[in-house]
Amino acid sequence: MNEKISAVINSIKDAENILLTGHISPDGDNLGSMLALKLMMEQLGKKTTIIIDDSIPDCFTFLPNIEEVQQYEEGLTVDVDLIVVVDSSNLERIARVQELVTEQIVINIDHHEDNNLFGDYNLVAEVAATVELIYNIQQEMKEVELTSEIATVLATGLITDTGSFRYSNTTSLTHQIMAELLNYGVDPSLIAKHVLETNSYQNLILRGKVLQDLQVDSTGKIAWLKVSREMLEEVGAELEDTEGLVNYPRTLKGAEVGVLFKEVEEQEIRVGLRSNNYLKVNQVADLFGGGGHPRAAGCTINLKLEEVEKEVIRAIKEQLAKDK
Ligand code: 5GP
Ligand code: MN
Repeated sequence: MNEKISAVINSIKDAENILLTGHISPDGDNLGSMLALKLMMEQLGKKTTIIIDDSIPDCFTFLPNIEEVQQYEEGLTVDVDLIVVVDSSNLERIARVQELVTEQIVINIDHHEDNNLFGDYNLVAEVAATVELIYNIQQEMKEVELTSEIATVLATGLITDTGSFRYSNTTSLTHQIMAELLNYGVDPSLIAKHVLETNSYQNLILRGKVLQDLQVDSTGKIAWLKVSREMLEEVGAELEDTEGLVNYPRTLKGAEVGVLFKEVEEQEIRVGLRSNNYLKVNQVADLFGGGGHPRAAGCTINLKLEEVEKEVIRAIKEQLAKDK
């Protein structure tokens, strides 16, 4: 067995009370990893708690046991001897849940190349999704059965982090794992319906409005969209209704990079970055204190929307000169 996996398994077996957590803006990989671990640990008789510093997007409320994911509240305390952090390149990504990290052993399970190995045990590998690593752990735990619930949450992570097996992070191993999960009762059409093919009314209306104002630089390589507070108010939408928008600009013919700017507050802009073939968007995000993967990254910048737009597009142009 891989040494890192056995170290993780041993520390799980040694623990009694375990806290599971992951990054803010939870996605299918993050939620799938935590829920699968919870179900696996329960089979071992462990007491587990999941806490994240964010709410759960509607599209994931169909996941088995999702009601077990608690939202962090100021002053909350836990009595645990082990903390497992998933899908997070650094501890800052779990935001206020960091306040619960004191003396406990920390396990870091992740697939981001910029992971800073913050754990006492680090299971970090360049795979398509963190759920691949959770699947590997399950395969090595002889006493843990792969149930249809575990298979479903793992499959959701694979589907979301690979864009349904279309992104360049997809490997033959990703497909092999998915094939195996399908043998355990996963319904891919159910997952796709919830995660990919259901939009709120506000999302669709907002999409129309935001796309009308698509911006493109003079070379045609950078395309971007902006969602201001004003636009959200006009259509009665919330930030959650921007789901999926980040993927549009880079589909423009000839574009290499797509960006989505979201005005969370007047001086708090959430930037989502996506590229097609060669531009390392995580290096651009890193300049602003963010991070991610070469083809999908993000950051939050505390400036006005117009200033953020100018700064980020300038940084992308510089990165384009390096990565071309
Ligand atoms: P998204 O745009 O979907 O929120 O994020 C895309 C990818 O970048 C994900 O893998 C996510 O974990 C990572 N990411 C997004 N925002 C940040 C950030 O502020 N810091 C870091 N380190 N990674 C981020
Ligand atoms: Mn992930």
